[in-house]
Amino acid sequence: MLCVRWLGAAGLIIRTDERVVLVDPFVSRHSKLELLLSRIAPKQEPVRRLADELDGVDAIFVGHSHYDHLVDVPLVARLTGCPVFGSQSTANVLRSSGIPEDRIHVLQGGENLDLDGYAVDVIPSEHGKSPFFGVPFPGEIPPDPRLPMRANRYRLGKAFQFLFHMDGKRLFQSGSAGFCDEEVRSRRADFAFIALPWWRKRSGFVPKLIGSLKPDIIIPIHYDDMTKSSTSIKGDISGSEPVEFAHQVFLLDPTIEIRFIPVGWDHVLVD
Ligand SMILES: [Zn+2]
Repeated sequence: MLCVRWLGAAGLIIRTDERVVLVDPFVSRHSKLELLLSRIAPKQEPVRRLADELDGVDAIFVGHSHYDHLVDVPLVARLTGCPVFGSQSTANVLRSSGIPEDRIHVLQGGENLDLDGYAVDVIPSEHGKSPFFGVPFPGEIPPDPRLPMRANRYRLGKAFQFLFHMDGKRLFQSGSAGFCDEEVRSRRADFAFIALPWWRKRSGFVPKLIGSLKPDIIIPIHYDDMTKSSTSIKGDISGSEPVEFAHQVFLLDPTIEIRFIPVGWDHVLVD
């Protein structure tokens, strides 16, 4: 059995009969006003509900340290007692949150992690670029950040994509619409979870990224409005253009299936 749940933004729960892995879990969904006016922290109610529901977590993977990928991670890690894999910037936030050192695994990019019952390739990546301000919040989060921080203090750090090898399948997760040509050229995936914000600004996004991965199934992510608690999806968030993306994938290879799945529901990929 292989099952995923899209948590909103780039967040995923990937579950097999044996393992539960989280990627970029983010359920706090702070409002625009909260993001503008205050320091932000994990929201206890949705994060605790998530942790309570999961009967143990094997690991959390964090693709980069923007708030919508990282802010909830320390609380999820504390509640579930699981290890976390992420950049040095991610590690700095985890340490300031009191996560014990032996549960913090700093990634550089390029690792092939052979873990208990599954494996993960850590792919060095670039972050997607806004047409207005380029890569949002670049730079590193320094050691010992004082928490809670404002959203704009969650600097990018190093960016990774992940290729999970679980139950004989390859699951690719990209948490923003950037990538390194040479890093994805030789990758193949069965299932690809692709973040869409500003994907049209990345030249060759569909032919190079999707053309390399040659997935059987693409599940678009990160096109929801994560500043709203509602998970209904309307309009075109940050240039996500999901319909145009699906159209271009069809023109590239009509055998690739695109599945738009709702936020918050388990979706079985393999029975
Ligand atoms: Zn980001």
